[in-house]
Amino acid sequence: MELVDYHIHPDFSQDATGSIFEFVKSAIDKGLSSIAFTTHIDLNPKRIALDRFIRTNGRLSFLSEESFQQYIDKVEEARVRFSDRIDIMIGAELSYGKSFENEIANFLSRFRLDLVIGSVHCLENIAVTSSFEAPIYFATHTLTELADGYFQALYGLVDSGLFDTVGHIDGYKKYATSYYGKSVSKIHKGHIEGILSLMKEKGIGIEINSSAYRRGLGEFYPSEDILALAGGLGVLVNSFGSDAHNPSDVGFMVKDAMRLAKKHKLNIKIHRRRI
Ligand SMILES: [Zn+2]
Ligand SMILES: [Zn+2]
Repeated sequence: MELVDYHIHPDFSQDATGSIFEFVKSAIDKGLSSIAFTTHIDLNPKRIALDRFIRTNGRLSFLSEESFQQYIDKVEEARVRFSDRIDIMIGAELSYGKSFENEIANFLSRFRLDLVIGSVHCLENIAVTSSFEAPIYFATHTLTELADGYFQALYGLVDSGLFDTVGHIDGYKKYATSYYGKSVSKIHKGHIEGILSLMKEKGIGIEINSSAYRRGLGEFYPSEDILALAGGLGVLVNSFGSDAHNPSDVGFMVKDAMRLAKKHKLNIKIHRRRI
């Protein structure tokens, strides 16, 4: 089985530790054949002071086209240096919001990335995937409002056509489950089907992301229920990722993720570098 990890945050991401080199070494040691670095890009103008950072040369600086180019150059350097041992792709994980979709499109048009992950992290400019911010959103919204807000954003993400794959498609469950309880596991019903159909129509794949296991959720993003729906609707699984934020998490449970995709008879077509 070919092992890949297509969701990796090196220390260019403000919340990650470990150099590109350390991540590559860990990936080679674990027998991975292909990896994608996917540092965060958050372009929400309402969150500039919170998110618009990239770490270069050990220091956090403003995420600009110039500083992002430094990231690309470093990954490219590693790609060439280790090309006989592992395939390395240059990618990014972009936070999506309808209100700054044009900024995302403009930014992406400046670079030629191998893999672009689109993820919903924020609703109403509050990061529902952050342990610190999520309780603020939850305290002021019902579970129905969370579902309506999240899936509306997700629909926009897919409809934009800007992304190769959808990151942690039910990422809301990370902190919502402990806040609202078990009913969180059902809120996708009636929302996700149309989104999955649109993914199929637009040729956008789904990622199976193992990081929910590190949060003690006992399942992947997405849940098996969503995976089964995706399989039934013919959505492609084109990415497996650990969402590693340090080198030791590279490749975490990607083998199990691949097995799960096969169990549900999902159509697996691993994303490849743009030539
Ligand atoms: Zn994410
Ligand atoms: Zn991530």
